Amino acid sequence: AFPVVAIVGRPNVGKSALVNRILGRREAVVEDIPGVTRDRVTYPALWNDRRFSLVDTGGWEPDARGIDASVALQAEVAIELCDVVLFVVDSRVGATATDERVVQMLRRSNKPVFLVANKVDDSVLDPEVAALWSLGLGEPRAVSALHGRGVADLLDDVMKTL
Ligand code: GDP
Ligand code: MG
Repeated sequence: AFPVVAIVGRPNVGKSALVNRILGRREAVVEDIPGVTRDRVTYPALWNDRRFSLVDTGGWEPDARGIDASVALQAEVAIELCDVVLFVVDSRVGATATDERVVQMLRRSNKPVFLVANKVDDSVLDPEVAALWSLGLGEPRAVSALHGRGVADLLDDVMKTL
């Protein structure tokens, strides 16, 4: 089996947009409305001549447990089955309580984690990106899934861990 890269994070941070950027085509559904990606979707992916499985997560439905529990559950399952995690945060929003909860899970998992600060379409957001050091997951990697900024550098480094 190919190594597995899982993309986790709250709804609407741009996980599916990042999947499409990595795949080089629009396959994952990107929506302005949170919660479009149901459960987990695995895509065969290729980067620098290396094959891997890319897992997009979602699964938020407004049930009784609420968004927080749902995101946490999806993240837990994805973290369990992967070799490396891309934890995506919306730089324009910053780290939320839900993000903190996922961070705790990531710490317990001992899996390699890349903290991805998405929606950094230009350098105006650099201070917001720097603030994400406080999550304790190392260097926040500024990317724009929409425009592609920073994604190649990130993937080059992800491949080094596989
Ligand atoms: P997901 O719920 O985490 O999978 O998020 P989506 O990929 O569906 O994206 C949610 C919204 O954020 C959509 O409106 C996207 O167009 C927008 N978005 C995603 N990535 C970026 C980005 O890098 N920059 C900007 N400005 N918007 C983005
Ligand atoms: Mg999605």
